[in-house]
This record gives sequence, C-alpha cells and structure tokens, in this order.
Amino acid sequence: MTFAATVLTLYPEMFPGPLRLSLAGRALEEQRWSLETVQIRDFATDKHRTVDDTPAGGGAGMVLKADVLGAAVDHARRISPEAPVLAMTPRGEPITQARIRELVAGPGVTILCGRFEGFDERIFEGRDVEQVSLGDIVLSGGEPAALAILDACIRLLPGVMGAASSGTEESFEDGLLEYPQYTRPQEWEGRTIPEVLRSGDHAKVAAWRKSMAEADTRSRRPDLWERYSDARDRPASGAQEKD
Ligand code: SAH
Repeated sequence: MTFAATVLTLYPEMFPGPLRLSLAGRALEEQRWSLETVQIRDFATDKHRTVDDTPAGGGAGMVLKADVLGAAVDHARRISPEAPVLAMTPRGEPITQARIRELVAGPGVTILCGRFEGFDERIFEGRDVEQVSLGDIVLSGGEPAALAILDACIRLLPGVMGAASSGTEESFEDGLLEYPQYTRPQEWEGRTIPEVLRSGDHAKVAAWRKSMAEADTRSRRPDLWERYSDARDRPASGAQEKD
C-alpha cells in the first residue's frame, strides 16, 4: 500500500525537495509513498487571489484566511478522505516518534503549512485539524516542518530501511535516547572506543548500552527521563492499585 502524503502550501515547489534524494527519494520512485501538493492560493476567491489579511485587533504581519484554508482543507479531504490533517504551528502539540508511528500505520497524512503570522484560529474550530509543532522554535513557514515529519514517516514505511534496521532501537522508541555509537578507527586522536564494545560479549554490550542510554537521557532530557522512570517504576499490571 502506498502512504499518501498531501501538502497544502503556498510554496509547492519546495516539495519533494530533499525528499527527492536518498532513502525517501528511492521510496518515492518505488511508490512506497506518493506526494500531492495543493496550492492554497488556488482557493482564494477574489481577483487578486488573496490568501491573507491583517490581524484582527492589530499588530504586525498577516494572517491566513479561514475561508481560503477551509476550502483548501476540504479539497485535500476529497483527495485523501481517510488521512488525518496536521496543521504546522508552534502552538501545536510537539510531534513525537509515537505519533509518527501512528501516522505510518494509517493511509497517509495531509499537512497544512502556515506562513506569515499563521492561521485564523477558526480553522481549528470549523475543521478536524490537528495542531502539530516541530518543537520550540519558530520557522518562517510550515514547509520545513512538513518535510521533517514526512521524512520521519517515510523511513519507517515497510521496505524503506531494509530488514536489518527496523528502527526499533533508535532514540525515543523505548522512551530513551539512543546509546552513543562508535566505529573504526579504534583510536582517533588518542581517544579509544569503549573496551566493552570490543569484548564480543553481547550481554555485556547490551547492558552497557542500556546504562548509557539511561544516563544520557537522565542528564540531557529530564522530561523524557521522568516519563520513562515513572512508567518503569509503575507495575505493568496495575495490580498494586487494586487495594
Ligand atoms: N506567529 C506564529 C508563528 C508563525 S511562523 C506564532 O508565534 O505562533 C509561520 C509559520 O511557520 C506558521 O504558521 C507555521 O506553519 C510554521 N511554523 C513556525 N514554527 C513552527 C514550528 N515550531 N512547528 C511547526 N510549524 C512551525
């Protein structure tokens, strides 16, 4: 089955962009995913093809109009009726690997890219649109966020990464950052690869990796660590909560 990506944007020429290359590019050729871009401006109704207007209440910049966005989203739904619609906005829920996995399990994704000061809020009331952020940064447009999310989805599609690397040992997959990696040469500028990785003892290697993943998550990402250690310390069955 082909994972259907639809991108609503004022800059369709930005796609597939970097997704034309490497893993994603090959997967596109192999039709493991498909890409359709929708020019938001095509849904403007006046002769100047206006998509934005000044913010109600005053202030800098321009806001994307709800009527134009609504028509563009409706069009995308006709193209891909089952796909969830994600609007790119720093006000949204930060994207996670878990959400990416859910998206990949579905028929595809429709991504709405903002520009200027963003969207008229009423689009989120009038249409079933999920607000998603790439993280606590401000981009000039939603397109790089859309490319990042599509890239994260595509690499998980069946057949894209090859059988050996299912991606399940990566950062976030088990709630932890990945352990540090090393490769030859054994010595570089006086620095050596940790001895345990050369021991050939698979159990010892696994234990070392786990402890490094935990230590690094704890020091670098206290937010992830808290969630991980809460889940770990809570009995899986919930049996203790019975009395
Ligand atoms: N005024 C808005 C920012 C607008 S930036 C605010 O302060 O919240 C212009 C567009 O870039 C947004 O509409 C959105 O589509 C995109 N964008 C910017 N930062 C983003 C982020 N962290 N995640 C996803 N999209 C982002």
